[in-house]
Amino acid sequence: MSGSDARLAAIAAITNQSKVSKPLNFSEISADEIFGQNVFSDKVMREKLPKNIYKSVSKTIAEKSSLDPEIADVVASAMRDWAIEKGATHYTHVFYPLTGLTAEKHDSFLEPDRKGGAMAEFSGKALIQGEPDASSFPNGGLRETFEARGYTLWDVTSSAYIMENPNGTTLCIPTMFISWKGEALDKKTPVLRSMQALNIQAQRILKLFGDDSNSFVSSSAGPEQEYFLIDKNFYYERPDLINADRTLFGAQPPKGQEFDDHYFGAIPERVLAYMMDVERELYKLGIPVKTRHNEVAPGQFEIAPMYESGNIATDHQQLTMVMLKSVAKRHGMECILHEKPFARINGSGKHLNWSFGNATSGNLLDPGKTPHENVQFLVFCSAVIRAVHLHGALLRATAATASNDHRLGANEAPPAIISVYLGDQLNDVFEQLKTGGAKSSKQAQNIKLGVDTLPSIPKDAGDRNRTSPFAFTGNRFEFRAVGSTQSIAGPLVTLNTIVAESLDYIATKLEKLIGKKPENLNSAVTTVLQELANEHAPVVFNGNNYSDEWHAEAEKRGLANLKTTVDALPEFTTKEAVAMFKKYNVLSKVELESRKSAYFENYALTLKVEANLTSKIGHTKIFPAAVRYQNELAQTCANLKAVGYEFDTETLDRVTALVKALQTSLKDLDKVIAGKHGSTPQAEATFLRDNIIPAMADVRVVADELETLVADDLWPLPTYQEMLFIK
Ligand code: ADP
Ligand code: MG
Repeated sequence: MSGSDARLAAIAAITNQSKVSKPLNFSEISADEIFGQNVFSDKVMREKLPKNIYKSVSKTIAEKSSLDPEIADVVASAMRDWAIEKGATHYTHVFYPLTGLTAEKHDSFLEPDRKGGAMAEFSGKALIQGEPDASSFPNGGLRETFEARGYTLWDVTSSAYIMENPNGTTLCIPTMFISWKGEALDKKTPVLRSMQALNIQAQRILKLFGDDSNSFVSSSAGPEQEYFLIDKNFYYERPDLINADRTLFGAQPPKGQEFDDHYFGAIPERVLAYMMDVERELYKLGIPVKTRHNEVAPGQFEIAPMYESGNIATDHQQLTMVMLKSVAKRHGMECILHEKPFARINGSGKHLNWSFGNATSGNLLDPGKTPHENVQFLVFCSAVIRAVHLHGALLRATAATASNDHRLGANEAPPAIISVYLGDQLNDVFEQLKTGGAKSSKQAQNIKLGVDTLPSIPKDAGDRNRTSPFAFTGNRFEFRAVGSTQSIAGPLVTLNTIVAESLDYIATKLEKLIGKKPENLNSAVTTVLQELANEHAPVVFNGNNYSDEWHAEAEKRGLANLKTTVDALPEFTTKEAVAMFKKYNVLSKVELESRKSAYFENYALTLKVEANLTSKIGHTKIFPAAVRYQNELAQTCANLKAVGYEFDTETLDRVTALVKALQTSLKDLDKVIAGKHGSTPQAEATFLRDNIIPAMADVRVVADELETLVADDLWPLPTYQEMLFIK
């Protein structure tokens, strides 16, 4: 099929598509029954494991330590029996390489007995450790040598689960992926380390406020995932979507998102059927998905879970992305997670809601109701503000990918400048703190703080500011720069670590000021809060982050504005970053270097694929369509002339000029692709940003204009209007 034949066939196929599937019904299967059905959860372990073993495992999980090998054998055999009952034939150590994706290598339970028979085996050793080799994953130079093996180690804090697939069921074990020297090759290992770091420092502050329970202070994450859905018939006609997850061509549709008629509107039936199926699958995996709605752009939707402990939330987010994609296929659609699949149409983010707390003191970013809680809150909140002020550039680097570059600062997503939004009320409190809150601190006994002259802070502190990259939203911060394709691990690791560093700084100050006199707490806190409020005021911004004035103002305030990934990634290895990650045992210098290098490589690869695709589609789809139309117009012109009519050649002239421009721009692009490139990942990324991106843009401008002129029945690519509006 050529041109619009394929497009018309796609539309016909879509109109005939069935839009119903059997919905989930809680009166047929109770919520409790379906939720976590496929998880080797605490509930299942309690039931399946001998009591002493269960106790030991629970303790290991609570203390976040590693499992005793003897106990592992018992757990493994219970897990195998449970998995086989559920139809599993294989097990896999699931891990999270630096690509940000999810990786798995399957091993069969089947073990030949070497006498011609076989049995289903699964040892403790196989449970706790695997050796997937997996040497092709980006490792930024950590595995250059021949002995550089990679190991996977079970993360006991993250439950094993069953992945059902119509063609085979697998037991999945969430693991860390490390080198033989113990260096992190993955995204999970540093998450666990950063959670420890945050816990240790938060405990010091909590002790000052009277919580010496030692109850683990855990960070929580609630990631909101945005995505696009398009029909697979269109998708398969778009080599750019198939290979780059975004459209490299496409003129603006006559109607875009300007009516806002899609946002929070009724969910289309076909999409609802899909969402129900996704939710059913996620429930089975114990993932507490909670909300769903249409997003701003046509064809764009959102799914968000109830927040969970950072490590679990990160694993669950990865599973959610996998599920969103695989279930879409069952429904004849494709789920596009890219940050900017359609130019000039709103892109997709992954707002990361983040807080931290423990069992005894609760959420430490909750302002609470009493002045005491209020002051403790102000200390923790100030720590976050300080952290973001000092390490905003690093935080920005955690959201740096080739695809997110299209979104940040594009008038729909926060700019690359990281500032903090507090809302009117909380902002007012910080204004007061600047001049010192304590008036009666001297008389104060125990924990009665002078700063209680401050107003108590209501839960919904002020309005929501959608333009802020880092906003306080009542009892948590929402980091909005994170891109929709990203693992939340990177942002989470950095958030936990920079806040640990601030808590360390504050705890040290307070401990010194208080000395051996607990009654000094009051004045010590007042002093420290005042200092912090003044020193870190420049990072607080409550205005419109999308405005040009903010860029100028931010520069005056000394806030970094790292516009592209290439500008941002070096932040991972600044002297300060290296020292900090080392001090809190989160990432070593080598690990940071390897990450930076792997991310540069990833950036470069993405751009190279896009450049190749632009060239290929330009030469083999758009150019032929354009010359066919040109020829048609020229024929008409000649035919009319032959019978004595004058043909207005305006369209022909324009098409001719564009065909010429297309040839030129494609030639230029091909030259850049074939030319001399950078020799290191960073040099290559810089080269591509400065040369490939403009060359691709030149091709696209011409091609998109051709789309508005060339006869519709000759146009080879499904249009924006078709992809976004036909479901
Ligand atoms: P909105 O779109 O209005 O920002 P959503 O309901 O879509 O809100 O998502 C909010 C996310 O924030 C959810 O995942 C929710 O569980 C999470 N969340 C709520 N409270 C906290 C908290 N204290 N810490 C971390 N995440 C939280
Ligand atoms: Mg939301």
